[in-house]
Amino acid sequence: MMDFRKIYRKLSSLRHVEIRNGHFCLYKTPMTFLSPSAFASLEKVMIENVGEEKAGKQMYMIFIEAGKEMAKMIHKNTMKTGLDLIHYVATLSSIGGWGTWDVVYANDKKLEGIYTQKDFLVSHYLKPSKKPMCHMPRGLITGVWRFAIGKNVDCIEISCVAEGYDKCTFEVGTKKSLRKKHPELVKEQIP
Ligand SMILES: [Zn+2]
Repeated sequence: MMDFRKIYRKLSSLRHVEIRNGHFCLYKTPMTFLSPSAFASLEKVMIENVGEEKAGKQMYMIFIEAGKEMAKMIHKNTMKTGLDLIHYVATLSSIGGWGTWDVVYANDKKLEGIYTQKDFLVSHYLKPSKKPMCHMPRGLITGVWRFAIGKNVDCIEISCVAEGYDKCTFEVGTKKSLRKKHPELVKEQIP
């Protein structure tokens, strides 16, 4: 188990994280925080407007771009690349309060990865659901991987807290390899 307080102390002593002018700053870049219920409301409004499947795919695509930007910023400040960067972003996301991220498995040669995310509050606000609902995290994961290893991978959510599981589980792979294992989920989640 990672000790986030230790990492936070180290980062703040290096002034990689700080509070400036009321903003939480990561690498001197001001971060914006919204309550998890706001993200859940956004998802619900999108579902009402365009339907569940389309909303999920649109959120996924938006957050791929956000994930790329996040990885780019962290890379610029740490020079971390590849798997190093992938693991580091997951640690920072846990510190940032986006639940506890765990990279269970990551292989940049086979283009495969498994993540779990615990206590991601947005998923609690989206209960109950018959389908996985965490399109933001899977978009972020995809964006980070695409930037870190420069390959066109995707990410699907296999099981979700919103469905009643104790944690959300995500799988990274090429669309083709994911489709072989999870044809229905790929059809529902990947544009
Ligand atoms: Zn979930």
